[in-house]
Amino acid sequence: LFVTFEGGEGAGKSTQIRLLAAALRERGLTVLMTREPGGSKGAEAVRHVLLSGAAEPYGIRMEAVLFAAARSDHVEQVIRPALAAGTVVLCDRFMDSSRVYQGITGNLEQPFIEALERVAINGVVPDCTIIFDLPAAIGLERARKRSSGSGESAEPDRFEKEELETHEKRREAFLDIAEREPLRCRVVDATETQEVIAAQVLSLVETLLPI
Ligand code: C5P
Repeated sequence: LFVTFEGGEGAGKSTQIRLLAAALRERGLTVLMTREPGGSKGAEAVRHVLLSGAAEPYGIRMEAVLFAAARSDHVEQVIRPALAAGTVVLCDRFMDSSRVYQGITGNLEQPFIEALERVAINGVVPDCTIIFDLPAAIGLERARKRSSGSGESAEPDRFEKEELETHEKRREAFLDIAEREPLRCRVVDATETQEVIAAQVLSLVETLLPI
């Protein structure tokens, strides 16, 4: 079973993955938690290049290809073998992040993104994708608190307003994917409490487990 977790920053994906992994392990299942970009040796090397900003001067197209290269390595070295061994794979971000970050807010054309996706996933499509939905302002606030450690909020300046618009665009794009692929995608309200979300996520995944 292959489950991916998607959504904007500050949505609480990583916490929920940990909670779900613990609950599934308690049921005796073998669980692999992984994340993108990264998750395999080769992909972690590319992650470093991407998140350090080293690829930025070469443009978004170059970045998109690097994300795809990392995903291909992750799929072939880690995800496909784990699934073949019967492991439940929980992945923090996958192909939908590329559709949204590089495709929608990166403005790369759809056929280019689709071609990269096809090559990178090579048939390994998530059985279920859980999309954490959160108003952009709340996600940004949470992410800011996490990085600064202070809780105070000031009036957004022009840069922050632009940032807010970009985040709102990403939110819409994730919801759009969920609407177009209702069999694969489920949306959870990420403004709920951790406990409520964890229960929803677990019951969702339980319906997909054999027996
Ligand atoms: O929220 P998380 O810790 O997963 O953030 C990783 C970051 O990598 C994202 O905030 C996003 O800026 C970036 N990313 C991206 N394209 C992807 C996956 C991640 O731009 N396909």
